[in-house]
Amino acid sequence: MQDACHSSSAVETAVDLANTLMPIKGEDALETIEQLRHFLDDHPLAGPGEPPSSAADRRLTDADLAEVRALRETVRGVLERAGTDAVGAAALLNDGLRGAHATPALRHDHDRWWIEVTSDTDRRAAHLAATTLSALASVIATLGPTRLGVCSGPRCRATYVDLSRNGSKQYCTRTCAHRASVAAYRSRHGRR
Ligand SMILES: [Zn+2]
Repeated sequence: MQDACHSSSAVETAVDLANTLMPIKGEDALETIEQLRHFLDDHPLAGPGEPPSSAADRRLTDADLAEVRALRETVRGVLERAGTDAVGAAALLNDGLRGAHATPALRHDHDRWWIEVTSDTDRRAAHLAATTLSALASVIATLGPTRLGVCSGPRCRATYVDLSRNGSKQYCTRTCAHRASVAAYRSRHGRR
């Protein structure tokens, strides 16, 4: 894991955000403010050593929901396109960072230096955009655009980021990989 270059929790946040929409199943886990609050509580936007922002003072509005849903489109677009159209994905990513007024800052904590990208606005979606899009940018810059992808499972369009050493991920989860190998076995043996 190349943790020095990107924060794996921010990468996870990006993937989890994209996967709140499951296009094939038609499931959307980000339709209400309550769902947005849960998502933000589960994915605190804090750098190493910083306390997560307090959930109690979080007043979310319909505008926050709409903005985060729009961000999800961008994040999903980047994850879906990077492997086949890296230039297009980069343009989408850069637009998103620009729109969020994302600004890098050098931080230091416990003998460790890292670059934190935050937004200079007070919009929650913009902070989420700065964190998630900069994390994806960092993966692309260090490991390459093909590390971002969409699950090859026949009935799955979940996205993933492959941070493994050999970078051979094709499925979002082991469950999906297993399901695909069972389906392949059955089709080879003429069963359904
Ligand atoms: Zn899958």
